[in-house]
Amino acid sequence: MSINTLQIGDVQITGLTDGSVSFDPRILFPDESLDVWAPYYDRFPEYFSGQFFKNNLGSFVFSSDGQRVLVDSGFGPHGDMLGHPAPGELITDFERNGIALDSIDTVFLTHLHGDHVGWNLREDLPERPLSFPNARYRVHEADWNHFTTAEMLDDEDSGAATNRSVLPLEEQGVLDLMDGETELAPGITAFPTPGHTPGHMSLLIASGNERALLIGDMLGSPMQATETELRYSPDWDGPMGVRARNDILDRAENEEAVVIGSHLSYPGWGTMIRWEGRRYWKALQE
Ligand SMILES: [Zn+2]
Repeated sequence: MSINTLQIGDVQITGLTDGSVSFDPRILFPDESLDVWAPYYDRFPEYFSGQFFKNNLGSFVFSSDGQRVLVDSGFGPHGDMLGHPAPGELITDFERNGIALDSIDTVFLTHLHGDHVGWNLREDLPERPLSFPNARYRVHEADWNHFTTAEMLDDEDSGAATNRSVLPLEEQGVLDLMDGETELAPGITAFPTPGHTPGHMSLLIASGNERALLIGDMLGSPMQATETELRYSPDWDGPMGVRARNDILDRAENEEAVVIGSHLSYPGWGTMIRWEGRRYWKALQE
């Protein structure tokens, strides 16, 4: 097993990355001073670049019973992200890990923010074909409805990503909307966790006696497992986001489930631990 693979019962998970970006956390936590994060410098040294966050753009390939499910397709190579050039490494990372793009059966999009849909199409090729030619792409219908209103499509950031990377899926007939709990492959079930976006979904991986919860952007950083109540500006509904975050972390703790997140430290998985009465995310070591 390499550092970026994990086995949950019969389900194998490979952590991939579109790269990482460093940015001033006050962009996403506008109510907090930088001092809030200082107690975490020693705990998560890999997450900080000085006082800035070093945020992983994580994607995951789940293999179960001969089927492959990709979770999210990164930010892509477009323009800049939070003021820094987009790393755009996901296609290269597939090659590095020896995973053929045409071996993906399902592309599950946790939600439709631009850093989760960026490589739906081959933006590095002039014809821009689908990156995963044999896959159905799946997302909750509440996110489709939210992000495809005329108003949202006109929005400079979110609209650009939807126009470029999501609408073509519908036009090419490869998009399947979900309206609730949906089994994607044996042992892998998507379920709604609204708050970050209206149709944000998570995954329960249950196989043998082992469990994992892939929680997308319910944690935008490892620190939020402890600082669950802070206002996180990307959340569509702040109070709902806080409730959903607390609920899923309670569940992970009670069920001793591995927690996998889009922006947790690469490769993106860990467990909940308690230390002096507070809860922390702790990366799993091989
Ligand atoms: Zn994200």
